[in-house]
Amino acid sequence: MELHSLTIEEARNAMQKGELSPVELADAFIKRIEAVEKKIRAYVTVTKEGAETMAKEAEDAMKKGAESPIAGIALAVKDNICTQGVKTTCSSKILGNFIPPYESTATKKLRDTGYVLIGKTNLDEFAMGSSTENSAFGHTRNPWDITRVPGGSSGGSAAAVAADMCIAALGSDTGGSIRQPASFCGVVGLKPTYGRVSRYGLVAFASSLDQIGPITKNVKDSAILLNVISGHDPKDSTSASVAVPDFTTPLGQDIKGMKIGIPKEYFIEGIEKEVGESVKAAVKQLESLGAIPVEISLPHTGYAVAVYYILATSEASSNLARYDGVKYGLRAEGEDLLDMYMRTRAAGFGAEVKRRILLGTYALSSGYYDAYYRKAQQVRTLIKEDFDRAFEIADAIATPTTPTPAFKAGEKTDDPLQMYLADIFTISANLAGVPGISIPCGFTSQNLPVGLQIIGKHFDEESVLKIAYAYEQSTEWHKRKPKL
Ligand code: GLN
Repeated sequence: MELHSLTIEEARNAMQKGELSPVELADAFIKRIEAVEKKIRAYVTVTKEGAETMAKEAEDAMKKGAESPIAGIALAVKDNICTQGVKTTCSSKILGNFIPPYESTATKKLRDTGYVLIGKTNLDEFAMGSSTENSAFGHTRNPWDITRVPGGSSGGSAAAVAADMCIAALGSDTGGSIRQPASFCGVVGLKPTYGRVSRYGLVAFASSLDQIGPITKNVKDSAILLNVISGHDPKDSTSASVAVPDFTTPLGQDIKGMKIGIPKEYFIEGIEKEVGESVKAAVKQLESLGAIPVEISLPHTGYAVAVYYILATSEASSNLARYDGVKYGLRAEGEDLLDMYMRTRAAGFGAEVKRRILLGTYALSSGYYDAYYRKAQQVRTLIKEDFDRAFEIADAIATPTTPTPAFKAGEKTDDPLQMYLADIFTISANLAGVPGISIPCGFTSQNLPVGLQIIGKHFDEESVLKIAYAYEQSTEWHKRKPKL
């Protein structure tokens, strides 16, 4: 097997046996990136020299007996997660030259355990989008069909994992940005429970929804990475003080008797036939493994997209007020202070970001606040209560991750509403704060991956991973690779 196709677990085993060194592994990825990045364009920055240095450090630490599940493992990080000394752009012109003076908690934990940063991946500007077409630095392409989008906003991370340009990657998920691109690219993407992973150093989009999580080649690697990045952080007051279990423990345990909720609102018209069929077959497969499908209802599902686009844009309009040309980032000269602000923001933000700032400012403005923002918060509570009720009957919920497979580049760029609907199945989990994973569950006749989403109770990533692993190990989908 080629080095660039290894999983975290395989690379780790080879290193422990002395058959592979971190430097060899990092070199293999640099070569792979040189060979296929032209086609895929998953990276904003490839940290070739930094990777070599980090790999040498990991190698030295290993020689001294350091033990870590990710020592010397080459990972990519979405370019909205701050990495000290390494450019972090959010794929926006306004942060085009921003070099953070500090490290996010998630990447600090990776650093402390010896990972190798191979590069920063492309995204929709400030994570706003579902196709990575909103990047100021070019579009990323889907490795399964380069005329199609990789999904978004973590499209660079998902495409890099699918194209073997890193072992695994970090993404962020506000309304589906880990799970939807994972589904489109045929890899595994996990959004943890809100509060499970610190958001410190994740550039804020919608703070009550944002969460960092792993994008990996299989479920085991997802659990391994989640183990490293989870935990309470005094620097993020919304990170939860709950115990972090070993997420690899439930893998391989029996799922017999587990109740899998199938929400009747998710198998609706408009979902592409082959997607529906693959997901139904996946539910049958879970049944053959002993799980018990039960019909459930999430009656407020129909409001999720509207609620999300009021709350996420409201929070974004406030979070993005800080990009004013004063302390950091792009600055355009102006006649006076106000003129400078306006020119800076006009030049620095792309069209979708501007649309969202306008929407959010409107929803929060005096006279409209009650009709939009407050109402959306109330409906958010109803959506959360839907999940609470469903979890009285079900141990986990299975749905399609997306209503369609990867769409063509350019297909939805002129129609924001169509683009927003790409997240119809992923948004509710963010609104409710519950964890969700997308795993490959089939391919369409055009050889495009289909994703199965498994959603769990708050802080019950263990059940999510257990079910996902049982399914994955009984199928072959995750072993397929795109031809590049
Ligand atoms: N696609 C959704 C949006 O455009 C979700 C993005 C995300 O999860 N960051 O907002």
